[in-house]
Amino acid sequence: MYCSRLSVLQELLSEDKIEKLDKYFASLIGSACENITVSKVAKAIGVAPNISSKVLTKCMKEGLLRVSYAIRCPECNMLIKRVESLSEIPDEAFECYGCNEEIEVTTKDVEVLYSLTDNRVFINGQQVETKLPARTVVQEDSLESVFLAGGVNEYLFQLTDEQYQHLSDKYAKVKSRKGTTKKIGDTLENLVIELFNMCSVFNAAGIRTSTNQIDCCVRNKMCINYGVLNTLGSRFFIECKNENDTPSGGYLSKLHSIISVTNADAKEKCIRFGIIISKEKGPSTFKQLAVKYYLINKIIIISICGKELENLFSTKGNLLELIERKATEIMLDATTDLHEAGLYEI
Ligand SMILES: [Zn+2]
Repeated sequence: MYCSRLSVLQELLSEDKIEKLDKYFASLIGSACENITVSKVAKAIGVAPNISSKVLTKCMKEGLLRVSYAIRCPECNMLIKRVESLSEIPDEAFECYGCNEEIEVTTKDVEVLYSLTDNRVFINGQQVETKLPARTVVQEDSLESVFLAGGVNEYLFQLTDEQYQHLSDKYAKVKSRKGTTKKIGDTLENLVIELFNMCSVFNAAGIRTSTNQIDCCVRNKMCINYGVLNTLGSRFFIECKNENDTPSGGYLSKLHSIISVTNADAKEKCIRFGIIISKEKGPSTFKQLAVKYYLINKIIIISICGKELENLFSTKGNLLELIERKATEIMLDATTDLHEAGLYEI
C-alpha cells in the first residue's frame, strides 16, 4: 500500500518501486524534505537517473512536490543562492561573492531540488539529513540533465489555478469586445503580453522597430539548445489580431516580411520564430504559407486562435507544449493534427 496520489506513477514505475518511493518520502524529516534530488531518488528506489527525473517531474506536476533551484559557482562550487523560479537565475555574467571570479551560470551549474508539498500524506519515519554540502553539482541533479530527461516545458511554464482563472476571465472580456479600437485593458495584445510574461524565462513587451510596431516582442532569457526554447531562439515576435472574423492570409506574409527585414538589419540577433494570435481561427492558407516560408529560410510562423487560448486556460494546459506542437506541425509539414493523434496533451 502506498499514498494513493502516487498511483499516477504507474506508467513509469512498477508497483514495488512506487512502494519504495512512498517509503523514501515518508522517511524524510527536517531539511531532507526540502533537498530531494534526482540522484537520491534514483539510488533510493533503484532506477536510472533519467527515470528518476521523469518520476520527480510527474510528482511535481501532480502537486506532490515543489521545485526550487540551487545555483552553484562553477569556479569555487559555493552555493550562491537558492531560488524558487527559473526567472531568478542570472542570465548575465556576474561576480561570485565567494571567489570574486566573473562567472556565468549555465544549466550545468544549477541543481534542481524538490520539496515535499505536504509530507503528512506519507507515513512518518526517521532519517536525518544535513544541509547542502559544498560540492559540485552532481551531473544527474543538474537542470541540464532534468531538461534532457524531457521535462523542459513543465519547469518553464507553471501557473497557479488563480492565474489560469485570471487569464480565462480576461480572454472573456477581450472576446466580447467589438471592433478593433484599442482601449486600455482588455485588448488581445495586453492579454498576450501578460501570458508570455507568466512564463519564467520570457520577457514580453510591445516594441517599435525602425519600420514597424510589434505587438509583442518576447526575449527568451534561457537560450538552451534543446526543446522548444531551441526552436524559439533568443527573441521572437507575436502579432495579435483583434477582428471578430477570419484573419486574412496576408497577415502571415506580413509577419514573415517583418522578421526578414529585422534579420537583414542585425544578423547576429537573428529572429527565427513568429506567432500570430487571432480571435478567430486563421485560414488554411496560414499553414501552407508557413510551411513554404520554413522551407525557404527556416523561419517558423505558427498561429494560435481564441478557441485554443480558451481551451489552454480552461484545461490548465501548457503554453510551451502548445507552441512546440504547432511548430512541429510546420516543420514536419504535418497533415495529421498532432493533438488529435495523441502526441500532445494540449
Ligand atoms: Zn565562486
